[in-house]
Amino acid sequence: MSRSPFTLLDTAVAPGKQAHIEIPVARSVSGQMQMLPVHVFHGKTDGPVLAISAAIHGDEISGVEIARRLIRKIKPAKLRGTLLVVPIVNLFGFVAGSRYLPDRRDLNRSFPGRESGSLASRLAWIFRTEVLERADFAIDLHSAAIHRYNLPQIRVSPSAKRAVELAHAFSPPIIIKSALRENSLRALAMAEGIEMLLYEAGEALRLDRASTRIGLNGILRVMEKMEMISLAPEKRQRPVPFEATRSIWVRAPRAGMVNLRKASGAIVERDQVVGHIADPIKPEQEEVRAPVSGLIIGDARHGFLNRGDALLHIAQLGDEEGDLDPDIEARLSHVMLDEHEIV
Ligand SMILES: [Zn+2]
Repeated sequence: MSRSPFTLLDTAVAPGKQAHIEIPVARSVSGQMQMLPVHVFHGKTDGPVLAISAAIHGDEISGVEIARRLIRKIKPAKLRGTLLVVPIVNLFGFVAGSRYLPDRRDLNRSFPGRESGSLASRLAWIFRTEVLERADFAIDLHSAAIHRYNLPQIRVSPSAKRAVELAHAFSPPIIIKSALRENSLRALAMAEGIEMLLYEAGEALRLDRASTRIGLNGILRVMEKMEMISLAPEKRQRPVPFEATRSIWVRAPRAGMVNLRKASGAIVERDQVVGHIADPIKPEQEEVRAPVSGLIIGDARHGFLNRGDALLHIAQLGDEEGDLDPDIEARLSHVMLDEHEIV
C-alpha cells in the first residue's frame, strides 16, 4: 500500500516531498497577515512524526538558526517518517526583538490556548492543534533570558521515559531532569501524551557557535535514534552527558562589577572562589564562593549587577545531601528556574 500524503491546512505533501506552509494567525493593524511558518518534510516511508519548534520566546534566536540549518540539511527522499519544523513560533516577538507577544503575554504560559482567545492564546491554540498534536515527539528550542547565558542543556521530565532516552541520544553537555511549569508547552505535551525535549542554549538575541552546533547535531542524533535518518559514524560520537536533578542560583553578594573566574561549562568544588563583585568606585570587592560542587550551567552576561541578582547557576552533580547548610539545602531547588530564567 502506498503512503498517504501529509495534509496541513489545504496543502497535501506527497511522500518524498517537502513544503513550506504558512498558517494565518492574525491580521495586524497595518493590514498584514501574521503567519505561523511550518516546513513539512514528508519522508518516502512510514515512520514517526517529529516536531521542532523555535522562538516561542521571540528573542531566543539561537533555535531559529538551528532550525534554519536543519531545514537545509533534511532531504525528504531519504527520510523515514515526517519532520515538521517551525523556525519561529512567535514571529511577533521575533520581529520586535522581544520575548513576549505584543500584548506582553508569554506564549509559553499560554498553553493549551483557545481559538477565540487573546493573541497569545490563539497562537498557542494554532501551534498546538496544527503542529504539536500531529507529532509523536517534539523538541522545543530556547535560550537563556536576556543578559544570561545557558550552557547547552536538555531539560526533560524525569517521568517521560522515551524523552529521557532521546535526551541521551541528543547528548548535550548536561541533561537536567526538571519539573514542569504550569501552562507551559512541555506540561501540555506531557498531559497529551506527547513526550518532548526542551533544549536551552546560549543567550537571547545572540548566536554562538557551540549552541548552534550542539543543537543541530543533537537533533540529528535524535532523528537517527528514532530511525528517521542515518548518520555517518563520526556524527554519532559524543561524550556521555552529565545528569542533574537539582541546581542553585548563586547571587551577587553586593552591587558591583562582575569578575568571574569560572563560567558556564566549568566544574567547581564547594567553597571554591568562583569570582568576585567589585565596587566600581572604591577599591573594595567581595569574593563569591560556590555553595555546592557541580557544573556551572548558566552565568550572568551583564557586567554590573545589583545585590541579589543572579550571577551563576550551578547544577549539583554529586549527592551532597546531609552535610549542606540548611539554608543552601533549601535553596537547592527541584524547580530549576527563577522568575526571570523561564523555560
Ligand atoms: Zn524560552
